[in-house]
Amino acid sequence: MDRMRELVDILNKYAYEYYVLDNPTVSDREYDVLYDELVKLEKETGKILFDSPTKRVGGEPISAFKKHNHIERLYSLDKATTEEEIFAFDKRIRKEDESDVIYTVEYKFDGLTICLTYEDGKFVRATTRGNGVTGEDVTSQIMTVKCFPLTIKEKGTLEVQGEAIIRLSVLDEYNKTADEPLKNARNAVAGAIRNLDPKVTEKRRVEIMFYNVNYSSERPFSSQTECVEFLRKNGFKVHPFLSVCRGVNEVMTAIKDIEINRKNLDILTDGAVVKVNDFSLRKNLGFTDKFPRWAIAFKFEAEEITTILNDVIWQVGRTGKLTPLGLVSPVELAGATVSKATLNNYGDIMRKNIKIGARVLIRRSNEVIPEILGTTEITEDCKDVIKPTVCPYCGATLTETGANLFCPNPHCRPRVIAKLANFACKNGMNIDGFSAMTAGQLYDSLGVENFSDLYSLDKEKVSGLEGFGALKTDNLFNAIEASKNVDFANFIFALGIDNVGKKTAGDIAAKFRDINGLKSATIDDLLAVEDIGAVIAQCVYDYFRDEKNIEEINKLLALGVKISAPATQNKEGVFGGEKVVLTGTLSKYKRDEAAKIIEREGGEIMSGVSKKTTLVLAGENAGSKLDKARVFGIKIIDETEFENLIKV
Ligand code: NAD
Repeated sequence: MDRMRELVDILNKYAYEYYVLDNPTVSDREYDVLYDELVKLEKETGKILFDSPTKRVGGEPISAFKKHNHIERLYSLDKATTEEEIFAFDKRIRKEDESDVIYTVEYKFDGLTICLTYEDGKFVRATTRGNGVTGEDVTSQIMTVKCFPLTIKEKGTLEVQGEAIIRLSVLDEYNKTADEPLKNARNAVAGAIRNLDPKVTEKRRVEIMFYNVNYSSERPFSSQTECVEFLRKNGFKVHPFLSVCRGVNEVMTAIKDIEINRKNLDILTDGAVVKVNDFSLRKNLGFTDKFPRWAIAFKFEAEEITTILNDVIWQVGRTGKLTPLGLVSPVELAGATVSKATLNNYGDIMRKNIKIGARVLIRRSNEVIPEILGTTEITEDCKDVIKPTVCPYCGATLTETGANLFCPNPHCRPRVIAKLANFACKNGMNIDGFSAMTAGQLYDSLGVENFSDLYSLDKEKVSGLEGFGALKTDNLFNAIEASKNVDFANFIFALGIDNVGKKTAGDIAAKFRDINGLKSATIDDLLAVEDIGAVIAQCVYDYFRDEKNIEEINKLLALGVKISAPATQNKEGVFGGEKVVLTGTLSKYKRDEAAKIIEREGGEIMSGVSKKTTLVLAGENAGSKLDKARVFGIKIIDETEFENLIKV
C-alpha cells in the first residue's frame, strides 16, 4: 500500500508539471513505466486510491483561463505497446464473433487536444481538453491559427476535435534564435496555447490536425471515415493518412507503415491510433472512466528520456569548430544504451542552462548520437560548464565567432583527420576503405596532413604500419589510384569548403563545369546559382582566394587527379523543366543512379515535396512524400513508367 501511495504522489506531481505547467521533469516513458506499475498494483489489490491518476484524464484547467464544460466528454486513449495487445483489443471488440471488424488507423500526433465549437455555422469557442469534462477557453489564442474555417454551412451546434501541433522544422527555426529554446514540440505547442498572450501563439505558428466530430445537434454521423470526410470538405486541416483496415492483420500492417513513415514527417508523433469505424458498434462498446473501449493508441518506442549529465568534453572538427559532447549516465533509449549526447556550441549550453550534474532531456531520432534538448532539474550541487580558452588537443588559443569557438591551428590532429576523412569519403574522392582511423595512423606515423600527401605515399612505409599487411596496403593504394578519376561535384565536396555539402557541390559543379571556371567565379556568379545564398557564396569565394588552397589543388592535378565535367544536361530531355522528388525503393536503380538519369534528361532533383514539385517518382514503400504529392495533386510515376520514359 505504501508503494501505491508513493506512486500516486509522484505520478500526480509529474502530471501537474506536464499538464498544468507544460514543463515536465521526466520523459513520457519514465512516467509510463511508473503508471503501468500502479495499474498492475491496483489490479492485484483491487484497491484504487481516491486521487489515483488512473481515474483521471489530463490535468485541471488553470484559473487564468475562463473554464468551459464540454458538451461531450473528451477522453484519453488506452494504450498498447505490443502486437499481442492489439490482438487482445481486437478480440475484446469482436467478443465471440469471427467476422472481421473495420478499423481506421491514424497518426497519433503528440500535441495538445483542442475542441472547437460552432453555433449555426459560426465558430464561437476553442477549448483545451483539461480534465475531460472542463477545459480552458483559449479562443483568442486559437484565433491566431489559420487552418480551420470561421464559418461553415452546418446549422445547430457542432464540436470538432483536433491536435494542435508545432512543426519540427518551425521549432528548430524558433530555437535557433530564441533566448530560451523550447525542449520539444509537445511542450512548445502546449506553452504556446496555454499562454495569456495570443501574440505568443501566433509567433509559434501553431497548426491543428483535426480527426474527430465530437458532437452534432443536427445529424447523426455513422462512422469515423464519414467524420473525417466531413472535416475535410468543410475546410478543416486533416492529415492525408487514414488507413481503413479490414481486421486486425491489416491494422498491424498500417501501424508498421506509420512507424516507418513517421520518421519523414515534420510533425511529432508518438504512435498510431486504432479506432472502430462503425459508430453503432462503438455505441455498444461504450467507455471506461478514462478511455473509449472502441479505440486504442499503439505507442512506439520512446525517443526521449532524462538522465544525468556527468561531464562535457570538446571535439574539434574539420573547420576547427569546437563541438561540446555531453557524457551522460548510461540509459536505454530506442534499443541502444546511450552514454553520449551532443550539444551545438557554447551559446547553446548557455541558452539551455546546461550544468554538470543536472538532469537533462535527451532525444534520439535518426542520428547515431542523441541530442541534449534541455535541462529538467538543477540542484545546488550542479556546476557550470567551463568555456574553454585553449584547444584541448593542441593548446592553441581559441577564437570565437558568434556562439562558436574555433581552434585556429590548421595542423591540429583532430582537424587534419576529419579533413582527410571528408576528402576520402563516398561523396568526395571515394577512396574505398579509407577511414578516420586510417587518416589518424597516416598522420601520426607518416606526417600525412595534406590531400596531396595521399597521392605521394611511400608504399613501403605504409606496409610497416600496424595492421597493414600486404593485401590491405595493396587495397589502399589501388583505391587511391582509382580515386584519381573524379566527378567535378565529388571533387568540390572533397575540398571541404565550409557550408558546402553534397547538394551544393552538385549545384556548383553543374553551373561552373570545371575548376578554372569555379576559381574565377565572383560572388555575384555564385549567388546566381539557385539555392546558394550570401554565406555559402562568401565561403566558396574566400576558399579560392587563399593561395595555399590553390597551390594544393594544383598539386593534386599535377599528381594525376583528373576531374571530369558533369554530364551535360539535355534541357529538351524527357524530364526537361521538371522538378522531381524520388521516394521509396526502386528495384533496378539505386536512388543516386535514378537521380543522375533524371538530371541528365533535363530534370531537377528536389529533396522534399513542395508546391514547386512537378513530378514524383515513387518506388516500393513510398511514405509521406507520396501522401503529400497526392494531396497537392502532383503527377506520380512508378518505376515501370520511369523506364518507359527513358527508353523513348
Ligand atoms: P495520450 O496522449 O497518450 O493519448 C490521448 C490523446 O491523443 C488524445 O486526447 C488526443 O489529444 C491525442 N491524439 C492524437 N492524435 C489522435 C488521433 N488521431 N485520434 C485521437 N486522439 C489523438 O493520453 P493523455 O491522457 O493525453 O496523456 C497521457 C500520456 O501523457 C502518458 O502516457 C504520458 O506519456 C504523458 N505524460 C507524461 C508526463 C511526464 O511527466 N512526462 C506526465 C503526465 C503524462
